[in-house]
Amino acid sequence: MIEQNLRTIREAIHRSAERAGRDPSTIQLVAVSKKKGVSLIREAFDCGQTVFGENYLQEAAEKIPLLPEEARWHFIGRLQSNKAKQIVSLFDVVETVYNIKGAKLLHKHSEALGKSISILIQVNIGREGQKSGVFPEEAQSLLEQIKSETALRVQGLMILPPYMAEPEANRPLFTKTRRLGEEFAEKGLFENNERFDLSMGMSGDFEVAIEEGATLVRIGTALFGERVG
Ligand SMILES: *Cc1c(COP(=O)(O)O)cnc(C)c1O
Repeated sequence: MIEQNLRTIREAIHRSAERAGRDPSTIQLVAVSKKKGVSLIREAFDCGQTVFGENYLQEAAEKIPLLPEEARWHFIGRLQSNKAKQIVSLFDVVETVYNIKGAKLLHKHSEALGKSISILIQVNIGREGQKSGVFPEEAQSLLEQIKSETALRVQGLMILPPYMAEPEANRPLFTKTRRLGEEFAEKGLFENNERFDLSMGMSGDFEVAIEEGATLVRIGTALFGERVG
């Protein structure tokens, strides 16, 4: 099942990239493995999938040590201060940084562990009250603070738009995120301003996200099947 799903997803990524005149190799699949067991994750790894996303620290801390060291882990859950140290020790990329406090903690712990960590800034692009993320108009100031106060490598932006049954419905938010990214890159606010990341698009809408510039797509259900619990 996993092998077939992976092939289907990779083909869809390829086609979406080509529709948008983009190089498919610039788009990375982050396999979201929350609530999925080690054997399924290993199966995906054995099919060539090396990048995984996890939301829950406790769960990730149990699974990551059981999987190949070559696997790369993105933290995509809510960033809590008291978890920053363990997050730094387990993960390669933290996609959900949205305030200076969180950034400083990650910086502190990565220095202490002698490990460099990459981050993305989570933008609350849909301006949803209950969702974390920095509002678009506050994102520049956050990026400037992070640049001057930490040694973190800011790779780009991440969004988690409202759930929509219709994939096209979030296209305007994807476009808006890309423009925001372009604006920040022009101001030199990312680690690599020639090639910054946009983490957007999930199982239901990754094709639209890629057409609008996504470089990281976070896909769980379409790869591993429905989650229970
Ligand atoms: C669960 C989750 C995903 C994956 O969602 P699917 O619809 O299962 O592909 C992506 N990003 C975040 C932040 C998530 O929490």
